[in-house]
Amino acid sequence: MKLCIAACLALAASGCAQRPLSLSYDVLIDPSFTPAQLEQATLAPGAWSAAVPGLTLRVAVGACVGEKALCIVPAFGAQHLAGWTSEDPNGGAVSYVSVDEIARRAPDAATALAWIEWTAEHELGHGLTNGDHLADRTRMATYLQLESSDITPADVAHFWAVR
Ligand SMILES: [Zn+2]
Repeated sequence: MKLCIAACLALAASGCAQRPLSLSYDVLIDPSFTPAQLEQATLAPGAWSAAVPGLTLRVAVGACVGEKALCIVPAFGAQHLAGWTSEDPNGGAVSYVSVDEIARRAPDAATALAWIEWTAEHELGHGLTNGDHLADRTRMATYLQLESSDITPADVAHFWAVR
C-alpha cells in the first residue's frame, strides 16, 4: 500500500492530492484492539454513517487489506499524538489510534475509552475526506481536547465540500 503520511493529542494531517473519494467503503477494524477498545472504535463508522445520509460503510473486524478500504488500527509509542491517518492515493486509508498515549493522557479509564472513540471518528474522518482540519468544537478540530463530542454540521458540510 503506497501511503501519503498524514499525522494527527495533536491530531495532525496532510493528505494526498486528488485522492478519489467515494460514498461507499469497507471499514476494517483491527482485531488487535482490546475488546473494550474495539467496541469504541466500532462506534466510529456508525457515527459517520448516521451523520451523513447516503454514505455506506460496511464494517467488519479484520486485518487491513485492499487499497480502497478504510482501516482503523491501534498504535503504540507515538508521543503527543492521539492518532494519525495514512491515506492511500487509490482512495483507502489507514487510521491509527494511539491507545497507549491516550491512556497515559486521559484522567481515567472511562475517559480514555471515550477518547478512543473520538480519535477513531476523527481519523476515519480523514479517510473519508482529506487531511484538512476544521474549527474548534467540530469532530475534525486539530486537537482532541478541542473537539466536539459528536460530528457537527460543519463536519458534514466538509464531507460534501471535498467531493
Ligand atoms: Zn486530524
